[in-house]
Amino acid sequence: MKVLKFGGTSVGTAERIKNVARLIVGRGRNIVVLSAMSGTTNSLVEIADYLYRGNISGAKETIFALESKYTDTVYSLFGKNTFADTALVELRGIFNYLRSFTPESFGPVQEKEILSQGELMSTLLMSLYLRQQGHICDVIPALDYVRIDNNGEPQMAYIAQKLKSLMQRHPEAEVLITQGYICRNENGEVDNLRRGGSDYTASIIAAVIQADEVQIWTDIDGMHNNDPRYVEGTSPVHELHFEEAAELAYFGAKILHPTCVLPAKLHNIPVRLLNTLQPDAEGTLIHTTPATGTIKAVAAKDNITAIKIKSGRMLLAHGFLNKVFETFDKYRTAVDMVATSEVGVSLTIDNEQYLRPIIDELKEFGTVTVDRDMVIICVVGDLEWHNCGFESKVLSALSDIPIRMISYGGSNYNISVLVGKDDKIKALNKLSSALFNG
Ligand code: ASP
Ligand code: MG
Repeated sequence: MKVLKFGGTSVGTAERIKNVARLIVGRGRNIVVLSAMSGTTNSLVEIADYLYRGNISGAKETIFALESKYTDTVYSLFGKNTFADTALVELRGIFNYLRSFTPESFGPVQEKEILSQGELMSTLLMSLYLRQQGHICDVIPALDYVRIDNNGEPQMAYIAQKLKSLMQRHPEAEVLITQGYICRNENGEVDNLRRGGSDYTASIIAAVIQADEVQIWTDIDGMHNNDPRYVEGTSPVHELHFEEAAELAYFGAKILHPTCVLPAKLHNIPVRLLNTLQPDAEGTLIHTTPATGTIKAVAAKDNITAIKIKSGRMLLAHGFLNKVFETFDKYRTAVDMVATSEVGVSLTIDNEQYLRPIIDELKEFGTVTVDRDMVIICVVGDLEWHNCGFESKVLSALSDIPIRMISYGGSNYNISVLVGKDDKIKALNKLSSALFNG
């Protein structure tokens, strides 16, 4: 059994929904995970924001626009018939529910309920469409089995047990459909796995049912070896190690949500990235045994701030680094790159929310300098230290670009360099020429 996840753009229009329906039938009894149609979750966020601000007419306007979009989708999907009528009745219920919230009774619990509606509408439309086409499918409600604990972590044992019993409900169903992203928390309230979390749902499900494979269907033919928005002639990477995929996802390859890889990796379930617009393309297979001894891809992460703390005394004296890191920990700010010398340490963050108080505290340890608008360029591949020459290839490709920091050896899979934002595109292109087109 496989888990097939289709993202927002894959179900973004009636035509796309029809296309996905064609892709999911006839491939065996798999579990299909759907995101909200593209733009929907953003609209739901907007509605919640209006309600928080007490702006009822703003909320109503966004609800109205969203409802019109879904009504149009229903007619293009079904035509005018009983399937369309059923869909419209159900959707009307959802939009009336959205309209029922008032600023007085509005809080985080209600916000999560609003955010969950997009995925619910996707599974509604897909299941009705499949039925109209004469297929038997069962919708397994994510809210009945995906549960997170107080730390937002999935409760795997609970999910496994619940899902397995729900899956037995309709043995005749050709496909099982469920919602990505949405779940319940320990209090039983509606919650979610954070934006982009449908990939995570797919990976969690695959882990608990020990699926043969997770397929993440998007509208690009796999993970590319560089960013196609900035570099011409990029090509899909056919195979990646889980660690390489995680580095790439984290460092900006938008195709896969970074947390997604983890449950699949822990349970050793291959993840395949496929393209709904070109279903026969090979895509990218993420597993434990890809080719070794090669550099696979380059990615960039924007909006990075570098902070240097230069100490008058011996930096690496006992306890110094610990104090520096404790400061970041205190302000719940994650550190990405680190470089140390005998007299100073530089590190990067991608969240400036607490930059001011962090700097104030760090000043107790030495002179602090901050460089903003930096970009991490991350080179990913089999960079185990016995492989000779990769570091020099990367650095010589960047020989005429000022480099603020270099980090290598933290994992076997990555070399990261920090450059100014104006040098990003040049750096990505130079690396492509040197590493992939040479
Ligand atoms: N619909 C949610 C979002 O837009 C989850 C997802 O698409 O993965 O963030
Ligand atoms: Mg997504």
